[in-house]
Amino acid sequence: MAAERPTVWLKPGREKSLLRRHPWIFSGAIQRVDGEPEAGATVEIVASSGDFLGRGAYSPTSQIRARVWTFEAHEAVDAAFLRRRLARAVDSRRRLALLDPHAACRLVFSESDGLPGLIVDRYGEFLVCQFLSAGAEAWAATIVELLGEICAPRGIYERSEGGARHKEGLSSRRRLLAGEQPPAELEIAAGGVRLVVDVANGQKTGAYLDQQHNRERVAGHAGDGDVLDAFSYTGGFAIASLLAGARRATLVDSSADALQVAERETAANGVLGRCRFVVANVFDELRAMRDGDTRFDLVVLDPPKFVHSADQVAAGSRGYKDINMLGLALVRPGGVLATFSCSGHVDAALFQKIVAGAAVDAGRTAQILERLSQPPDHPVATEFPEADYLKGLILRVH
Ligand code: SAH
Repeated sequence: MAAERPTVWLKPGREKSLLRRHPWIFSGAIQRVDGEPEAGATVEIVASSGDFLGRGAYSPTSQIRARVWTFEAHEAVDAAFLRRRLARAVDSRRRLALLDPHAACRLVFSESDGLPGLIVDRYGEFLVCQFLSAGAEAWAATIVELLGEICAPRGIYERSEGGARHKEGLSSRRRLLAGEQPPAELEIAAGGVRLVVDVANGQKTGAYLDQQHNRERVAGHAGDGDVLDAFSYTGGFAIASLLAGARRATLVDSSADALQVAERETAANGVLGRCRFVVANVFDELRAMRDGDTRFDLVVLDPPKFVHSADQVAAGSRGYKDINMLGLALVRPGGVLATFSCSGHVDAALFQKIVAGAAVDAGRTAQILERLSQPPDHPVATEFPEADYLKGLILRVH
């Protein structure tokens, strides 16, 4: 007789979120655990009545003690299961016409693609994976093999880093997983724009693919004006704006490495001569510009995540307000501010309120022209609203 699978018993009443197919089980919802599941092991999750709720990956050190792979009692968690989920994710991008062999897109977006803790970004012929949960980590070798079969990439690289992994009791790792090492400067054609991506050393998996769409939307407002790309990373917003007709762009980022790649990326796009690169803290640099007389026709603010947990919302909101006051002050009358937040804990309504407050305090009148969010290769599963993190406003500023 097969050994009984380790089982996570929930406290009475704590099955509600699972019945709505939310995939996280917090430690506080658990009554007891039968068996001694290791990190990443598949466990049965049952209600206090003993009714089956789901089958998921156990994570002994995380507050999110288990993440559900499947809510179907008859569905085993094995290589065939992972193949179905991966194939479904890739097929969704195919239907979105995102699989151009020279372009880049997110192939797998974690919980939203039914694969909690797994991110896969595709840069042309190369894939970059992040295994960010104990469950994804436990299946990493199988996932790499399956990605090889489904996508036939030239190489698969790993960038499993950051806070999420630490919470899961995992250390950071970056290495080649299969095939060829990606070149240090991978050139990707994304629509009319060329991306230069350093998969091994860049931030995240090398680029911010979640802004590909929005760069075009914002560039549509550049006219022939002067652009400030604040928190530029490699200058995606500046490049799109210059290609759309902007006269000049100033890129500000605290990372000298990012601005070095930005020099190569702007050169690849033929706009290097119209760019100025400033390695600085955006808060300091924008304050200095405000106190001087430097002004722009288009200001882009795309800061990193200020809010990482619910208890940081107040402090983070002040950060967003400060940076938006500075950004608004730098817009010439009649110009445009494009402002973003990638903090999931700051929802679109709160973000709009913060920007409204910043306009009042900056003494400027602003109108929302467009609302932006994340692109379709970063989908939001309806049962997992936590995936909805990116929001942006394009404003006319008088
Ligand atoms: N707009 C970019 C993505 C920005 S990600 C794009 O479209 O690709 C956020 C960037 O902010 C990172 O490059 C990071 O290096 C930078 N950054 C973080 N804190 C900063 C600060 N205080 N001042 C300047 N840059 C900062």
